[in-house]
Amino acid sequence: MEFLDSREFSARMDREDPLGDYRGHFNFPRHRNGLAPVYLCGNSLGLQPKKAVEYLEDELKNWRDYAVDGHFHSGRPWISYHRHCVAGFTELTGAKASEVVAMNTLTVNLHLMMASFYRPTPERCKIVIESHAFPSDRYAAASQIRMHGFNPESDLLEWSPRSGETRLHTDDLAAMLDEHGDSIALLLLPGVQYYTGQVLDMEAICDLGREHGCAVGLDLAHAIGNVEMHLHDWSPDFASWCTYKYLNGGPGSIAGAFVAERHCSRENLQQLHGWWGHDEATRFKMAKDFTPAAGAELWQMSNPPILALAPVAGALTLFEEVGIAALRTKSRLLTGFMDWLVAERYGDRIGSITPRDARGCQLSLVVKDKSINARELFDRLSELNVTPDWREPDVIRVAPVPLYNSFDDVFEFAERLGTALTDA
Ligand SMILES: *Cc1c(COP(=O)(O)O)cnc(C)c1O
Repeated sequence: MEFLDSREFSARMDREDPLGDYRGHFNFPRHRNGLAPVYLCGNSLGLQPKKAVEYLEDELKNWRDYAVDGHFHSGRPWISYHRHCVAGFTELTGAKASEVVAMNTLTVNLHLMMASFYRPTPERCKIVIESHAFPSDRYAAASQIRMHGFNPESDLLEWSPRSGETRLHTDDLAAMLDEHGDSIALLLLPGVQYYTGQVLDMEAICDLGREHGCAVGLDLAHAIGNVEMHLHDWSPDFASWCTYKYLNGGPGSIAGAFVAERHCSRENLQQLHGWWGHDEATRFKMAKDFTPAAGAELWQMSNPPILALAPVAGALTLFEEVGIAALRTKSRLLTGFMDWLVAERYGDRIGSITPRDARGCQLSLVVKDKSINARELFDRLSELNVTPDWREPDVIRVAPVPLYNSFDDVFEFAERLGTALTDA
């Protein structure tokens, strides 16, 4: 694709964009200093879909009008409400319907999954994370190691970029497994690295884990709704993701989880049980014995918070409709345009640490010109009503998302970045 540095070009791209109408399905934040928002933070908190509002209002009404009967008798009965997320989740993850479930929040799910799939022995007790892992994932892994009586100092291994680089190489993970594979119980790795935006080779990670007898858990917080995945075929042992980033489910919204089909029927699996993981047909007989539900639903514990789940179900209808393939097609152009435009105009001062050949929406921009203070540049962009996000120590993350960002947003970003740099 040949990009052009002009408003006419971005306007033409928007006119020809088959997903252009979806922008109208979202509520945009307020104007600031007389400027319309350029929202580029969908990788942190997605904008509010009108469908999410509608779904939430429906359940407030159902609660008002039906009270306890809402569990069984309303438009979308609460007893099976979580299943309204299944079609969206399978579209986005490539899982089978029985392998996914909406429940809890991301870090909680990581712990619940580790309760089943991190079963260390003195010979095989280590967990591999990446060296720049999101803090919550690191804390979760380290605390699991400690809970089992092992020591994170020696038993939490890090897959690191090579010296002077930010990119993770699958070869280096392979080498680490060749050396230590027998002592590693679990690989807990992201699908997309949150800081650099690098898309990891999830299939290769799953294959490596299997080869070396290690369980594999994927954190898909930055992958879901962003890049294509084939979880059923890749078959990690488990995965989990939050729904407030690219999925637009609202702050702290209910997360998702995947459990590979092969585990859903295992008799001797270690699990923490609650009544919502009990077979639905006999759940309300209140029996003393636990009869497991089928599929990933077995990992549910409590009856889900419907008011936190409704916006997720509403938001997911958009993804079901559009499909990840169409999103990816637009995303490549949108992020490609941004990358090109920033390099073309400001390449001497602004660079990106996001690999061109392994990225989703996000670009992680860095200031190359050391006379410019990156944090001050970020603050000036905020004054101009541009919303990127800041990650210590010096990265400005920008994520044009294909569902609601336009090519004009990208052009406008470049304009305002120019203003912010001029003031620098
Ligand atoms: C966003 C994110 C989280 C957040 O965890 P919560 O439990 O939803 O607060 C955790 N891990 C990664 C990799 C993330 O990107």
